[in-house]
Amino acid sequence: MSITPLMPVYPRCEVRPVRGEGCYLIGERGERYLDFAAGIAVNALGHGHPQFTKAIAEQAATLMHVSNLYGSPQGEALAQRIVDNSFADTVFFTNSGVEAIECAIKTARRYHYVNGNPQRHKLITFKNAFHGRSIGAISATDQPKMRDGFEPLLPGFDYVKFNDLEGAIAKIDDETAGFLVETVQGEGGMTAGTVEFIQGLRKACDEHGLLLILDEIQCGYGRTGKMWAYEHYGITPDILTAAKGIGNGFPLGACLATEEAAKGMTFGTHGSTYGGNPLAMAAGQAVLDVMLEPGFFEHVEKMGERLRAGFEQLIPNHDHLFDEIRGKGLMLGIKLKEPAVSRDFVAHLRDNHGLLTVAAGENVFRVLPPLVIEESHIAECIEKLSAGARSYVPPADD
Ligand SMILES: *Cc1c(COP(=O)(O)O)cnc(C)c1O
Repeated sequence: MSITPLMPVYPRCEVRPVRGEGCYLIGERGERYLDFAAGIAVNALGHGHPQFTKAIAEQAATLMHVSNLYGSPQGEALAQRIVDNSFADTVFFTNSGVEAIECAIKTARRYHYVNGNPQRHKLITFKNAFHGRSIGAISATDQPKMRDGFEPLLPGFDYVKFNDLEGAIAKIDDETAGFLVETVQGEGGMTAGTVEFIQGLRKACDEHGLLLILDEIQCGYGRTGKMWAYEHYGITPDILTAAKGIGNGFPLGACLATEEAAKGMTFGTHGSTYGGNPLAMAAGQAVLDVMLEPGFFEHVEKMGERLRAGFEQLIPNHDHLFDEIRGKGLMLGIKLKEPAVSRDFVAHLRDNHGLLTVAAGENVFRVLPPLVIEESHIAECIEKLSAGARSYVPPADD
C-alpha cells in the first residue's frame, strides 16, 4: 500500500505548523514564519486572537450544534447583522466557500424558474475564475487543471475573458440566468475587475432581467479595505458568496441575496446539516465584533497602501524579477518575469527567508496577510522579500 492515509491531493510543502501567534506561524521544529498567506485569506484576525478564541470556547461549552429543524436565535442574529452591513435582505449559512457557490447557483436558477422562465439556467462565468471544487463549481470554470477527468460536468455555463464587457454581453441569450464573477480574481492572478466591467455587468443585468452574482469568498469581508469589494464599484449585486475571512478559520460561508433574487428559495428547496450552527455563528459574530469596530477597514486600507508602497519601491531594484503589482487593499500580488516561476519563488521565500506567501495564476505570487497587521510586519515582509529577491535563482529553463 503506498497511498497515504491523508488522500494525496495536495502537494504539501515542508512547513508543518503546530501553533500560531498573531501574524506568525510556528512549525513542528519551532521555526517561525511571518504568515502573509493567512490560510489563503482566511485568518483575517491572525492566529489566536483572544476575543475570537474566547467567543468560540464559550459557545462550545454552551451549545455547539442543533438541527436546522429548530429555531436559531444565533443564526437570526448573525444574518441580521450581515444584512445590516450589506446589500442583502437574506443569508444562507454554509460550511465552506464552495457550498455558498452551490447555493448561489441554485438561487439563480430558482429565481428564473419561479418567474416562469425555467429555460434561463445558464450562468456566464469568466476565464481563470476559481469558485471551488464541487462538480457545480468546477463546471463554472474553464480551467482544465480542475476539470480533467471529472467530465461530464454540469451543463449551463458559458466562459468569457475576465474584464471583457463586450464579450460578456455578446454571450447573453434566451437561456442566460446571469453572471457569476469574482469582483477581484484571487487564484486566477489577483486581477481586479475594472470599474467599467463590473458596472457594465450590473447594467446588462438590469437591462436583460439577469442576476449579478459576485463571488467575494476571497475579496470580501474587509480584505480590500472595505467590508465588500463591490463597494469600490458603486454597485450592488443580487447574490453574493462569502467565506474565508468570515469565520477567521472556523469553517463558515454564506450566500447573501436580495429579497427579489431569493424569491424562489422557499421551504424545502435547500439545506445543510451543519450550516449556521451555534458554534459557527459565534465565530462569525466574533469576527464582526472586531471588524465593525470603528477604524478597522481604514486600518486595512492604510496597511494596504503601505504594503503596496513597499512593493513599488522594491520593483525598480529587482526589475529582472518583478513585473507589476496587482490587487486591492491587503489582497495584493506581484507578477513575476520569466524565467522566475511564482510557485518556485514562494517556496524560496518560505524555505530561506521565513516568509509565507501563496502562488496564483499568471505567474503571480499573492500576499494575503492577516488584516490586523501593523507597520512592523510590513517592514519585516519588505525586508524578507528584498533579501529573497536578491538570493533567488530562477530554475534553469532547459
Ligand atoms: C477559496 C475560494 C472558493 C472556494 O472556497 P472553499 O472554502 O475552498 O470551498 C471559491 N471562490 C473563491 C473566489 C475562492 O477564493
